[in-house]
Amino acid sequence: MGRKCTRCYYDIKNSYILKEETSKEIICPNCGRKLVVTNISRFLAITIFIMGSLIFTILPIKAVNIVIIESVWIALSYFLLPAIIYDYEEKDINKKKDDME
Ligand SMILES: [Zn+2]
Repeated sequence: MGRKCTRCYYDIKNSYILKEETSKEIICPNCGRKLVVTNISRFLAITIFIMGSLIFTILPIKAVNIVIIESVWIALSYFLLPAIIYDYEEKDINKKKDDME
């Protein structure tokens, strides 16, 4: 999976996003444009996180194991979900969406 810079169509790798200090706002490695995460992808990441958390709590396993799995899930979600799910758009797009093509 990958995503493209809305400006220069440069392929931004997941590993690049992982290396960034914050995944909410990244700088395109090619054109230096500031990109922010879209609300939809943010919502999607949160939904997946909550769904995952709920699924693990109903698993027919010992409570201790659930706690361990939940901890791993929270850590994984925190670090990996943004890199996998997040989609970015240019910051301060006013009416620029129309002249993208
Ligand atoms: Zn770019």
